Amino acid sequence: MFPVNLFTCGLSGVWGITLLKDRIHNIIFLRSLKTRIFLILLIVGLIPCVSMRYAILRNYEQRAVSVRTSDITTQLRILANHLITYHYLQDTSYEVINAELDQLSNLYDGRVMVINNDLRVVKDTYGISENKTMISEEVVRCIKGESTNKYDKDNGYIEMTIPITETVRFEDGPQETVEKEVVRGVMLVSASTDSIRVTMDILSRKALLVEIIAIIVLFVLSTLAVQALIRPFEKITEALNKAQEGYTDDPISVTDCLETEHIGDAFNRVLGRMKLLDDSRQEFVSNVSHELKTPITSMKVLADSLISQRDVPIELYQEFMTDIAKEIEREDKIITDLLALVKMDRTAADLNIAEVDINVLVELIMKRLRPIAQKRDVELVYESVRPVTAAVDEVKMTLVISNLVENAVKYNKEHGWVKVTLDADHQFFTIEVADSGIGIPAESLDHIYERFYRVDKSRSREIGGTGLGLAITRSAVLMHRGSIRVESVEEEGTVFRVRIPLSYIPV
Ligand code: ADP
Repeated sequence: MFPVNLFTCGLSGVWGITLLKDRIHNIIFLRSLKTRIFLILLIVGLIPCVSMRYAILRNYEQRAVSVRTSDITTQLRILANHLITYHYLQDTSYEVINAELDQLSNLYDGRVMVINNDLRVVKDTYGISENKTMISEEVVRCIKGESTNKYDKDNGYIEMTIPITETVRFEDGPQETVEKEVVRGVMLVSASTDSIRVTMDILSRKALLVEIIAIIVLFVLSTLAVQALIRPFEKITEALNKAQEGYTDDPISVTDCLETEHIGDAFNRVLGRMKLLDDSRQEFVSNVSHELKTPITSMKVLADSLISQRDVPIELYQEFMTDIAKEIEREDKIITDLLALVKMDRTAADLNIAEVDINVLVELIMKRLRPIAQKRDVELVYESVRPVTAAVDEVKMTLVISNLVENAVKYNKEHGWVKVTLDADHQFFTIEVADSGIGIPAESLDHIYERFYRVDKSRSREIGGTGLGLAITRSAVLMHRGSIRVESVEEEGTVFRVRIPLSYIPV
């Protein structure tokens, strides 16, 4: 039962803390970092201030009561001796003792009672209880020889008892005498502690004044500290707002503290990335416009020259129209490639994954490209090391392989060759497309996957390239969580290696 209760308690505790956190979070004023720091500084400063006042007052009170008690005890001891010397317990008429008792009573603004062994009050400085019997725990204990004292804070007095003792000699054996203290009565004193209380009130007022001054100073210091601590964050917000409004492209730098420096660095990195994306988008748009415009310009020139001539011979007419048709075909290819690229830019959720026999797929592509290869006198060789079945998007994988093989044929030499090799291990399959072509210069290797990048613009255009093929290929490979690598030596040939997981790995 106990552990269950403990568990429930723990749960309700956690729930309570969560609820409190939620409440605090909902109070807008407490959500400000400024307010939080201010409150923490104020509380941390106030705790020692308040506890010091409490400690000083308590200490003073204990000390004052203890001094007063020991003073009274000394006085009572002296008086008790006088009482015995003058046999006051038997005869209370001795004026000197009465005066001493009254003096003590006045001195401590209290009451002194002398009680004999029969618990009868022989003297009461208030004159109220004389000859009455006094039975109290303290008096009885004191008759047994034990002094007592008690501080009653609420009613403002100290009550003390001390025994009135007499030294008596007893004969112990024929020659020996022993001295013994025998209790003859008790002195009971109630002394007022009003004077201590008055001093404490004065002290408390003074301490309160010091405390108020300390709170004001603390308030001012906390406000200044908060301003100083928050200032760098305000600066960085200002800088971010400026950057957001577009007034400046300068990097943000608030070096007032490490945290703001880190925020600034992180923001500059995001800004840099956004700028890069923006630049590449702008470049892409201008490239697209330029690429789409080129065939249209050619068509216009061809059409204009036909229109401007009278009695155009049919052969020229046919030649120009064939050129126009070629340009239309080119425009169509660019648009088709652009659409393919846009599709690649979408999320991997657009992939249509299915188990595909990669050998069959490669063979089909080779069959389709063989006539083009033959036209250029390029030999197409296919080697399959093992049968491969993989979970891929068939359309996109077809684009990957055909783009690579097409390029290998396009950028080849006469009597050249293209070799496609398919292999796999237990995790990946690899397609290698090697050719004996013109190769890619080393400085271009890093750029070939960029949209519209061509090593030799005029040659690429001549052979019907759009500069989008490898960009599409790379996107499709990455969508399958694969990799693509290239090695090339100018005038010797190029090898592209694509590695794709056999099973599709979702994000
Ligand atoms: P394109 O449509 O112009 O072929 P790609 O994106 O497919 O565009 O290729 C980009 C550029 O990379 C090509 O213009 C070409 O210069 C170079 N390239 C691609 N594949 C090869 C290859 N197998 N051999 C030589 N150069 C190549």
